[in-house]
Amino acid sequence: MIYLDAAATTPVKREVLEAMWPYLTGDFGNPSSHHGVGESASRALAAARRTLAEWLGCRPAEVVFTSGGTEADNLAVKGIALGNPRGRHVVLSAIEHPAVVESVDFLRRVHGFEVSVVPVDPDGLVDPDAFAAALRPDTTLATAMYANNEIGTVQPVARLAEFAHASGVPFHTDAVQAAGWLDTRLDALGVDALSLSGHKLGAPKGIGVLAVRQRLPLEPVVHGGGQERGHRSGTENVAFAVGLAAAARLASPAEVASAAARTTALRDEFIAGVLATVPGAQLTGHPSSRLPSVASFCFPGTSGEAVLLQLEERGVIVSSGSACAAGSDDPSPVLLALGLSPQVAQTAVRFTLTPDTTADELHAAADALRASVAEVASLG
Ligand code: PLP
Repeated sequence: MIYLDAAATTPVKREVLEAMWPYLTGDFGNPSSHHGVGESASRALAAARRTLAEWLGCRPAEVVFTSGGTEADNLAVKGIALGNPRGRHVVLSAIEHPAVVESVDFLRRVHGFEVSVVPVDPDGLVDPDAFAAALRPDTTLATAMYANNEIGTVQPVARLAEFAHASGVPFHTDAVQAAGWLDTRLDALGVDALSLSGHKLGAPKGIGVLAVRQRLPLEPVVHGGGQERGHRSGTENVAFAVGLAAAARLASPAEVASAAARTTALRDEFIAGVLATVPGAQLTGHPSSRLPSVASFCFPGTSGEAVLLQLEERGVIVSSGSACAAGSDDPSPVLLALGLSPQVAQTAVRFTLTPDTTADELHAAADALRASVAEVASLG
């Protein structure tokens, strides 16, 4: 099997599992317990928090563990927007993940917020001037994802954050896909809040972080015993937090830079080969401001779902869009926001590389793709 769906999820790394194991077995305490077993768990959680804070360029007290990227996005959007007394208006880009889109829609439906959606250009880039123009005196939050999960386009988030700050607006970015490929430090980017998810990084599904500046009032989404300094109640998932910290340690700046350079070269060769040899192939997303790992296309005249099945029969695992919208037959709102027609959007196929993907695997995937597209096109 050639697995080219890393944007959907990645396997847990051996070092991560080994780091987690003690906290699933012998050292199983509840970090809130006032005895040795609990205190040991509490120390492990604090150490994981310190590691992630250093990795994310923020303070340990600014790391909130969540159940994943979706919950981190929910807490960022609802928590910051509702905690900010400035008003009831939110700004977001037109290509956000459903975790952000639906959280904003909740604010609109239940709390009467007004919403401004900033369009993107045909490559998926947010226009910074349009973004700045959308900010208002009553805007409580602006959010734009760092790297898009369907097309890989990387936004100029540092610039967007500067615009937001010039208007006194807190800025959040969903960095779930960017983490492990790009610099995701809050201090380097100048963002106020950043979401990430363990399972895109070699940690398990079900752990994530919202890194959020301490000065921002944050309304909790999950209420209860007041864990995570009241930001996120619920007994902490110590073992998974330790696993996420282990994954972050493996993604050192040097490791990230070399994986990004290697994977970008492989991706570009793959994209050029597909565009040159698959009739009608169109690249989606920005040609250069894109994640090293994402090669996404439309193949007009086919069906993305049918090409995916053909590829799987040939041993190549990909996605026909985003796994998060799985089960939906509707064309992707992200692709429609680029200006693609619903017919063309239905033909999307996304290949996402891991840092371990090889040139041989990509050559085999390109051969399989040519055969798959030809087969689907011939069936009409
Ligand atoms: N945000 C983005 C950009 C994603 O790609 C995903 C998952 O694919 C999420 C959020 C949700 O993360 P999780 O699966 O941890 O809930």
